[in-house]
Amino acid sequence: MSTDIGMAQLTREPDPEDYEKKAEVWMTSADDDVLGCRASGHAFPKIRATRAGRLAKGVSARRQWDGCYQITSVCRDCGTERIITTLPGGMIDLPAHYKYVYPTDAEGRNRYAAPRGTGEFTSRRECLRESWRRALETIQIAGDAE
Ligand SMILES: [Zn+2]
Repeated sequence: MSTDIGMAQLTREPDPEDYEKKAEVWMTSADDDVLGCRASGHAFPKIRATRAGRLAKGVSARRQWDGCYQITSVCRDCGTERIITTLPGGMIDLPAHYKYVYPTDAEGRNRYAAPRGTGEFTSRRECLRESWRRALETIQIAGDAE
């Protein structure tokens, strides 16, 4: 017998309709940039050197006490930070393991995350659907102007 049964007893089984409603409220109030990134992925600048010998705009590196570097890339659209810590000297082990710091609202709440338990209703596909719905009028105006 698996430990899943034990976990099920620990976590309250909520009403699925409740989650659907929570998702709907979240979806209609989510910022356009958040929906866009949830639908189509973040726009992290690439970690590479420019011809000018700098890191790309939106990428920063900070040397750590042990000779490792902490490299942070900031999504151009939603502001999510993707952080990787290198080996000493700056090399990385692949596959890379990133940490993410999500944008927050004025009260410090994660504005990227959908409410817990609503994953089924806030999937990439559902975010794309809502993002597209919001953009439709603009798509039509832009297309008709051509
Ligand atoms: Zn993003």
